[in-house]
Amino acid sequence: AWRLRSIRDHIRTIVDFPHEGILFRDVTTLFADPRGFRMAIDQLLHPWAGSRIDKVVGLEARGFILGGAVAHQLSVGFVPIRKKGKLPGPTIAEHYTLEYGEAVVEIHDDALQPGEKVLIVDDLLATGGTCAAGIRLVERLGAEVVGCAFVVDLPDLGGHALLDRMGMNVHTLCA
Ligand code: 5GP
Repeated sequence: AWRLRSIRDHIRTIVDFPHEGILFRDVTTLFADPRGFRMAIDQLLHPWAGSRIDKVVGLEARGFILGGAVAHQLSVGFVPIRKKGKLPGPTIAEHYTLEYGEAVVEIHDDALQPGEKVLIVDDLLATGGTCAAGIRLVERLGAEVVGCAFVVDLPDLGGHALLDRMGMNVHTLCA
């Protein structure tokens, strides 16, 4: 007898990457598996079937791979949020704190229209700092975040609780 492999079965953990003491969840093995990747895209979309979504916003870099596929499936546009200095046109920026230091993310200032409904997609939710900065960028352009979808949730790092406190609809596929 065989069973369908779950999303979790396709994700491997790399010890001490990118620093000693970090257990890195590697989703490239999920992306490389044809059934795994399709299952991930289908499951990321599932809660928003029948809801209005005007744009998918993906967070650099694995959020581009997932968000691009989700946007295609919904037949809506895709908008990237990138690390500082990568987007070619006029941008707005948000700063957020990391374990050591600070990071900056940007969005093109004309990428979203006021009132548009946005689904934010990324591979993994840890402290939630990256997603929270992304939400602020979307909201500064006058658009509305209707949901945040992630493949992996690391709830012990507090991101899920943070997004809940921000009033977000958060959807994650595995822990
Ligand atoms: P946060 O801002 O929630 O602390 O971190 C989430 C961001 O860092 C996401 O963009 C995610 O891609 C990346 N990230 C942090 N830890 C991991 C990990 O263990 N595996 C993967 N694939 N990404 C991670």
